[in-house]
Amino acid sequence: MSEITIHPEFQKRMNLLLGEVEYQEFEMALQEDSLTSIRLNPFKISTCPFEGNPIPWSSNGFTLKKRPGFTLDPLFHAGAYYVQEASSMFISEILRQLQVPKGIFLDLAAAPGGKSTLLSTYLAQEGLLVANEVIQSRNQILKENLIKWGLGNTIVTNNDPAHFQELEGFFDLVLIDAPCSGEGMFRKDPEARNEWSPDHVKLCAGRQQRILDQVGGLVKGGGYLIYSTCTFNEQENEEMIRFLVSEFAYEPVRMELDPKWKIEESSIPTEEGTFFGYRFYPHRVPGEGFFISVLKRPNDAYNQEPKKKKDFKHPFLKMVDEKTCQTLDEELGFENSQYYLLNDSYFRFPSMWKTHFEQILQSLNIRYFGTEIGKKQKEEWIPSHDWAVSILPKKDFSNQEISENEALEFLRKNDLELTLEKVGWVLLTYQKLPLGWVKNLGNRVNNYYPKEWRIRNL
Ligand code: SAM
Repeated sequence: MSEITIHPEFQKRMNLLLGEVEYQEFEMALQEDSLTSIRLNPFKISTCPFEGNPIPWSSNGFTLKKRPGFTLDPLFHAGAYYVQEASSMFISEILRQLQVPKGIFLDLAAAPGGKSTLLSTYLAQEGLLVANEVIQSRNQILKENLIKWGLGNTIVTNNDPAHFQELEGFFDLVLIDAPCSGEGMFRKDPEARNEWSPDHVKLCAGRQQRILDQVGGLVKGGGYLIYSTCTFNEQENEEMIRFLVSEFAYEPVRMELDPKWKIEESSIPTEEGTFFGYRFYPHRVPGEGFFISVLKRPNDAYNQEPKKKKDFKHPFLKMVDEKTCQTLDEELGFENSQYYLLNDSYFRFPSMWKTHFEQILQSLNIRYFGTEIGKKQKEEWIPSHDWAVSILPKKDFSNQEISENEALEFLRKNDLELTLEKVGWVLLTYQKLPLGWVKNLGNRVNNYYPKEWRIRNL
């Protein structure tokens, strides 16, 4: 890696934050390569497929001995793990320590989906996640990552924070992983380094304050707000917590830290008491720079319950009636599902979150929800890829385990020469994990891997 040049004003500020001696260690860490870490999808695999060390604050996280070529690993495409830097995984520890009730969570700035896949895992079959990304072009990758993760407990939305007004007091947890000046990403992201200036920090802080002003009220009584950035400076971190506390009722939350983790606690005195933030420095932890703070909404704060609507009205979506939902559940081997139809394709959604979903549908731009199952034509299912990689059963289809080379050919969407026993739809698996569908026509096998996801040029 070529030597990293650092803005003198940034050097000065970090010197103040760390002291001169520790600053030298920090600067040396910036010249090193960043570590690679992954978080396993416990619904798909239970052991780390690479040589690595467990990350102490995440039961599914591992720092890898060396960086593998993920693109050529079929398990990566099967949603068996997510490549995520280790500091961010501290959210798992927060959820664990606070035993946050599994309800409805919002990830406000979600793309590409690292923290959303973590929240989706935590919520599993009991909760619902709204993964929002304001930038339209980044919605696609967010959706793709959540489909591959496969838990079907998520709604992907494409909205500006200002559009959430009607959902005040609606969420049990709101995560704001704010767009920031990225000081913690300097060794990973040259753009963050080149873009850095005191004015840019100011601009980011202004944007963060606007976002917090718009969404600080969305947490219901007793719920939690998590604010995080990948930057070190106080303007974008402590100052934002002070702003939040000055505008909305919140109580402080303090985490227990093992000194071995070398995470630094920051006390944030405010008129409402002392709040806490946690800094992760690359010279101390096996991850990148990160800041995170947790706040609790007082129990008596506003709590909005979704209103049950008598009739379901939507320009494109059709709701499937209760009896048909039960019949479909029996046929497919699913449970407690509410189905919707979009362009003749069935979407499965957990029925316990139906009223919440329908309320969200009224105020937000929904890009994806639950799991697309596919179309049914004359009693025959045309199954979707999303169903293949989801954790839902696929009970009436035959499976075929394939080799690594065959899996890569499949993922490149090339023609496959497979000997399959049965004609019709066949689910291909690699190390027992579903990769997608092929259709055996007898004389040839058609590859149904999504064109837009295929591995190119490798
Ligand atoms: N949470 C993501 C993850 O773990 O993969 C990373 C999120 S990144 C730090 C911040 C996100 O905020 C980006 O996806 C960016 O597009 C989005 N963003 C940019 N401007 C925004 C704004 N004004 N309001 C909300 N989100 C914004």
